[in-house]
Amino acid sequence: MGWLYHITTIGCAMNISDSQRLASRLNELGWSATNQRSQADLAILVTCGVRQSAEDRIYGLIKRIKQDNPQTAVALTGCLSYRPDIQAKIGQQVDYWFTINQLTELEQIIPSPQPASSLTHLHDYLQIKPLYTSKISALVPIGNGCDNFCSYCVVPYARGREKYRPADEIIAEVQNLLAADSQEITIIAQNVNSYRDPVSGLNFTGLLEQLDSLGNYWLRFATSHPKDMSDELIAFMGRSRNLIHHLHLPVQSGSDRILQLMNRRYTSDHYRQLIAAVRQVWPDVSLTTDIIVGFPGETDTDFQATAKLVTASGFDQVYIAQFSPRPGTAAAKLPDDVPTATKKQRAIDLDQLVKAGTLSNRQAQIGQTVEVLLEEQRGHKYFGRTNRNQQILLIPQTGNNYVLGQRYLAQVTAARNFSLAGQLL
Ligand code: SF4
Repeated sequence: MGWLYHITTIGCAMNISDSQRLASRLNELGWSATNQRSQADLAILVTCGVRQSAEDRIYGLIKRIKQDNPQTAVALTGCLSYRPDIQAKIGQQVDYWFTINQLTELEQIIPSPQPASSLTHLHDYLQIKPLYTSKISALVPIGNGCDNFCSYCVVPYARGREKYRPADEIIAEVQNLLAADSQEITIIAQNVNSYRDPVSGLNFTGLLEQLDSLGNYWLRFATSHPKDMSDELIAFMGRSRNLIHHLHLPVQSGSDRILQLMNRRYTSDHYRQLIAAVRQVWPDVSLTTDIIVGFPGETDTDFQATAKLVTASGFDQVYIAQFSPRPGTAAAKLPDDVPTATKKQRAIDLDQLVKAGTLSNRQAQIGQTVEVLLEEQRGHKYFGRTNRNQQILLIPQTGNNYVLGQRYLAQVTAARNFSLAGQLL
């Protein structure tokens, strides 16, 4: 075996962040990255088990990897790595399995060119210094796992129970990133609101307050659970210097009956009150959410309640998923009784409602001056995001110099469903 690796990441921000720690560990063990998967000696798949479609993608990928180069060894980690049924199904085609928590002992699972004795012993994989993929924006995980057991979700089984990093460790990581000129830090965990420093007991608002005082940069957090978003946190959001005005707050359904079956432990009214409170402190908030359509037992009346909530909430983006049962979860034991065609139709109907709302939200911004972070240049045009996390295409002023990774003011000149256009000032 040679020593070239390639990582394919599927799924969420947590998987992207995990891949950065995985790459770092492989480099420490003497492996080198290649972006040509067919040339890799080792292809690692960081998998997602949230939906059947993400799972199916892995089966196709493994087949392609072996077809392109039968010598490439395949390693599988992430949400699917804990599932015995997946191991039984594709175990023959996968050379190495490890859960993400086993990253600290990777050298015992995958052969490596460098002696493992050169590594510092770590008791938690989040202590591995990541190989960040962007100099501009970084993801900083504050913990891993989830205790909530929403009935449709695999995460508590795949990642285990909640475990949080000490605040000192998180603060040091953010300080290092700011010293290296990162402009945007996104604090991530499955449910950031239940953060507790294992040493001092500091809560999430306390942690954010400390991070907020570290400099002048864009700060974001995801994901929040509506049952745990406290008044204390919302009040802090209002006085924070650095938090940008974007909140991702998954609602999942507008029907209280379905929310109960999902084990979400809040009502649609509670959700409405929460977003009203957030709008009091951030009147210009860009609010995004996740919704599952076709959950077991979802009637037309339940779906109409979701549609009503979407119309009333003024979301800037809604990530719509059609329910698919995930093995081992409580919802997988319920009859998957909403026909596929109905799930599809509900997703289409909801998408149309969302688009009507997002377009008018963005049109209302035309003429406003916003702060933007420049991320990419293509020819004469720049691409970036606003301080509400909205994508924006930017036309430069002739004669001005603009630097990628820096923040500028721009005037919004046009709007589409999910993006803006503007003139750099
Ligand atoms: S809060 Fe619910 S949906 Fe989110 S990771 Fe935990 S169990 Fe899954």
